[in-house]
Amino acid sequence: MMLINGKQIAATFKQTLKNKIDTHINQTTHRRPCLAVIRVGQDAASSVYVAHKIRACQEVGIESISIHEESLSQSQLLACIERFNQDKKIDAILVQLPLIKGIDETHVLKSIDPRKDVDGFHAIHVGHLWQGQLKHTLLPCTPQGVMHLIRHVRQDLSGLHALVVGRSQIVGRPCAQLLLLADCTVTIAHRYTQDLPKLLKQADIVVAAAGQPGLIRGEHLKTGAIVIDVGTTRIHGQLKGDVDFESAALVASAITPVPGGVGPMTIAMLLENTWQCYLKHIGI
Ligand code: NAD
Repeated sequence: MMLINGKQIAATFKQTLKNKIDTHINQTTHRRPCLAVIRVGQDAASSVYVAHKIRACQEVGIESISIHEESLSQSQLLACIERFNQDKKIDAILVQLPLIKGIDETHVLKSIDPRKDVDGFHAIHVGHLWQGQLKHTLLPCTPQGVMHLIRHVRQDLSGLHALVVGRSQIVGRPCAQLLLLADCTVTIAHRYTQDLPKLLKQADIVVAAAGQPGLIRGEHLKTGAIVIDVGTTRIHGQLKGDVDFESAALVASAITPVPGGVGPMTIAMLLENTWQCYLKHIGI
């Protein structure tokens, strides 16, 4: 069994990106890339995630601006986003979710200039993804990270049966579409799916993104499956995945741990997207 060490894979990815950024800065008169992060509310997990993202920016030489307001009206938030949309020194904008009650997430995400929408949640990016126009889109960070991890195990995914457990806009659905574009046969399971164990037994690749700790166990899996555990649920201060790692590791050919699997790759992809926004912004 291969442990898919997301932490290490992300570290290698970040080092390569850092080299690219340093080379670019040394050889041109351009400024460094800059990511703006907006957080609203008091969600403790969000505070940790934002801190990780800012630290990761520093590691690779991306500048960042972080704004945190415990309370903000929707119109104030939209005004802040518009300021960042217009700011020529900012290449990428991230609004950390969840937002607070009374703010319409969809409306807020729509207000980010698509060229700076580093999470790739804007309808323009979603549309390009579903048209298979990957060159023109910013891919959402977690699904992009999931694909990197799968490709780390195996390049050619053609004809494999992939099961995505979860159908959210930000994880499940884009993961399913990326696997479809990689020529997998894709099944999407969700909370109303009947007989999940039967689907799991047929799957060569399982992407678990349900947020249900321990939902998937070794005895459910097909022997040799590649298992990517996106799930992160905090229980008594510990992060738990959707997959029971101990039992699944006995059956899978490759598996991600939680923590240390998808999480670090999500951040690495955020940095990559910021770099891509920057290159377009300065006209490269
Ligand atoms: P979500 O709550 O929006 O969606 C969960 C999905 O799982 C839904 O489509 C639901 O129908 C499905 N589901 C729930 N119970 C199920 C069951 N018993 N069987 C089959 N399907 C079931 O969550 P999300 O935003 O997509 O996130 C999913 C998980 O991934 C969460 O644990 C979240 O914390 C984690 N996550 C991790 C990262 C990371 O970087 N590691 C990033 C994003 C999300």
